[in-house]
Amino acid sequence: MVMMLDPQGQWCKVSGALRMYEPALTGAFCDWTVSSGGAMTVTDVAADDRFRLHPQVIGGLKIRFFAGAAIFTQARSVIGVLCTVDMVPRVLTSEQEDGLELLAKQLQARIELREQRRELQELIWEKDRAAARLAAEEERFRAFMNASPFLSYLKDASGRLLFYNQAFAQKFGVSDDAWLGRTGDQLWGEEISALVRSDDIDVRSNTGVVESEEQLRGSNGAVSCWKTYRFPCHDTFGNVLLAGIAVDMTEEVAHKAEIERYQQELEQANEQLRQLSVTDGLTGLRNRRAFEERLTLEFSIARRRERSLSVMLLDVDFFKQINDRWGHAAGDGVLRQLGETLRGSVRLPDLVARYGGEEFAVLIPESGPDATLGLANRMMQRIAAGDWRHTPVTVSIGLATIQPDTRDGFELVRHADEALYAAKRGGRNRVVIYDGEGAK
Ligand code: GH3
Ligand code: MG
Ligand code: MG
Repeated sequence: MVMMLDPQGQWCKVSGALRMYEPALTGAFCDWTVSSGGAMTVTDVAADDRFRLHPQVIGGLKIRFFAGAAIFTQARSVIGVLCTVDMVPRVLTSEQEDGLELLAKQLQARIELREQRRELQELIWEKDRAAARLAAEEERFRAFMNASPFLSYLKDASGRLLFYNQAFAQKFGVSDDAWLGRTGDQLWGEEISALVRSDDIDVRSNTGVVESEEQLRGSNGAVSCWKTYRFPCHDTFGNVLLAGIAVDMTEEVAHKAEIERYQQELEQANEQLRQLSVTDGLTGLRNRRAFEERLTLEFSIARRRERSLSVMLLDVDFFKQINDRWGHAAGDGVLRQLGETLRGSVRLPDLVARYGGEEFAVLIPESGPDATLGLANRMMQRIAAGDWRHTPVTVSIGLATIQPDTRDGFELVRHADEALYAAKRGGRNRVVIYDGEGAK
């Protein structure tokens, strides 16, 4: 029998011809074998005080003979006992005793071998499990990368492609592995591959992400716009790898261009509208609105800087008669020509506007009564010398210059209007300066 000794107790591993598996058979015998140093022979157990009352001696198998040899581990701890029993007393020869111990040692070797094999098997299984885990992780990584809409790739430090995903493969119309191991030199033209090389150097020397925007020609010849993020990463061996992810921006770029175009058109339209809103359609001069805006501005500047400011109002004499006699279109022509004459007579800072029907206004910054009167007289001369197709044209002019008590630009215009009215009353074709008392 081979009895194994566990911390939990004894159990029978092999029972040979006895076909008995109860530890009760050998319990005391095994304990005595171990405590007597590893080997024990009892020639007649019925004559031995230790065993004669054992249940298997007085009844059961009626054992008369026992010999046992302990089975040790390499570290000399007992793991079991090899036992042999008989129903008659026996004396073992020394060869038989040696044989028993030899057999116990063989058992030890077999048990240890089996233990080692089990450990080895465990190692192999662990390795298989690790390989399976790795394969599953790799599979998951590929599934993730291939489901991604972003072109993704990984290169080694010398620029060889180690990995690229399906989006990448599809973009360039290559199989999943055709470009693996290839460098930029082998894939792109000279110009692009030089660019790629210098980009790679940038990425390697950079710890962050290098962003760029580029256009790619796909396998179908269509050009698309991509935003690329490149960054270094390190594998478990400490090698630097170059990773890249590119996002298709074609639609966004087209959309952005469209919006910019739309914005430009809108700005142009706005500018046209602005021009229209401040321009008089007939003469191309500024209109009354624009004049009043500038008037407010110039008045406040004149006040702040203590500068002078003058306003001139100019009305065509007997204009109704021109219309009546030569027609409305001829009247329009006169207004246009007059507008040009006035515009040609002023300085850059002065503003000539069509104020009403046949009435014009001139805003003259930094100009007092004398200079303004000079300007008005020059205008009268030019108009008198003008080549008017149908009939001579004369105008009446009212002038007003800012005074310490002038409240605002509109009051200045009112004063000029009063002067203009006085010019009309005085017989037309003349200039009148507002003097505070009415006009002279
Ligand atoms: P006064 O010397 O008192 O200014 O006489 P006037 O005839 O010029 O004065 P009035 O204000 O009676 O007439 C102005 C005329 O100008 C009346 C109007 O038909 C004409 N008019 C106003 N706007 C236009 C325009 O855009 N084109 C033409 N052709 N005539 C216009
Ligand atoms: Mg008039
Ligand atoms: Mg008028």
